[in-house]
Amino acid sequence: MNSSGPWTRAAAAAGLLVGGEARPTVFAQMSAKAAAHDALNLGQGYPDDAPPAVVAEAAVEAIRGGANQYPPGAGVAALREAVAAHQAAWYGLDWDPATEVLVTTGATEALAATILALVEPGDEVLTLEPFYDQYAAAIALAGGVHRTVPLTSHTSADGDLVLGVDREALRAAFSARTRLVLVNTPHNPTGLMLGADVLEAVVDEATRHDALIVTDEVYEHLTFDAPHRAPAALPGAQNRTISISSAGKTFAVTGWKIGWITARPELITAITGAKQWLTYASGAPFQPAIAAGLRMDPSVFHDLAADLRARRDLLTDGLREIGFRVSVPEAGYFTVADAAPLGEPDARALAERLPGEAGVVAIPLSAFYRDGDAGDAASHLRFAFCKSRPTIEQALERLESWAAPRR
Ligand code: PMP
Ligand code: GLN
Repeated sequence: MNSSGPWTRAAAAAGLLVGGEARPTVFAQMSAKAAAHDALNLGQGYPDDAPPAVVAEAAVEAIRGGANQYPPGAGVAALREAVAAHQAAWYGLDWDPATEVLVTTGATEALAATILALVEPGDEVLTLEPFYDQYAAAIALAGGVHRTVPLTSHTSADGDLVLGVDREALRAAFSARTRLVLVNTPHNPTGLMLGADVLEAVVDEATRHDALIVTDEVYEHLTFDAPHRAPAALPGAQNRTISISSAGKTFAVTGWKIGWITARPELITAITGAKQWLTYASGAPFQPAIAAGLRMDPSVFHDLAADLRARRDLLTDGLREIGFRVSVPEAGYFTVADAAPLGEPDARALAERLPGEAGVVAIPLSAFYRDGDAGDAASHLRFAFCKSRPTIEQALERLESWAAPRR
């Protein structure tokens, strides 16, 4: 059914429709392409791995034990307590599980509820650019104004792509209208981890402008060199920071959709006000399972990250040998690779062709820019390495055959 018309003006105005259809996310679009071409899917960021046995068994046990009806809207006590204990153990942050923790339906709902609760029409929300695509949609739904700070990029002495944040540009992007600054570290799509100097600038400017800091830390445990730095743990940050994370990436359960927020009680109360009308409550049997996961020994988290690091190396080394200019991510699921050296200046067009030409799916970086305008990054693709070694190896072989005639 063609759905453009006066009834659906609101959805169209918020950019949710394209040509009268629901605008598909780039991830859904590219996963459909992978299926249609029987291509290897290095596009959408979901892992091939099974969740840790402790976590999977706890969910099965919870279902068998009867945790199948609405849980409390704020989340079951066991998970709220585990979130607070996890924040204390890993980042030295104290939160009261009764009033300062809210369980959500993934980080996606946490971000949407936070933005809907705290942004008034005309308020500015600041993010880096490229940014995770949901941010623009959620800001638009709230009637906010999206301001962005572009990442910097240059080529290293050995030819790699190096991405970074210009602290002064970040400072300059704050204004009297800035309500929220949304800090995604480790960052999707680049795998960049924001350094202490950048985070200090965020806290400093947020304080000067009386803005709130919202974090998106869903890749907090998938770090390859330095440990994750929680923005709320910086001096002066905790009272004005809404920290968001989720279970999907850490425990390889992206389909479970369990996330959480930690913040001061008045902020949690406001966000609960929005959350309860979005989903009311979140997956009952998964909550105790994630509580068990968060309490696992730190060595388990380190082993998961080390295993992923090896696959990062496999993919980045392989793409470099094939002829891409690659960036080596410090964290997360993704490598950004520049196809310009292979004679491909337009990554969006290339991403459309690659599934058919090479049998491999990647995401054009333009999907993470406002209006799809990636500027200098127009030739960049995002490849996921949260896949099995054989999948990555086979994808590299296919890309090598595709690229050989182009070098
Ligand atoms: N933020 C970022 C940066 C992400 O990459 C993702 C999803 N992959 C999300 C939020 C959404 O997380 P969830 O699946 O827990 O809703
Ligand atoms: N966060 C995942 C990615 O960046 C996708 C999540 C989704 O499909 N909405 O690939």
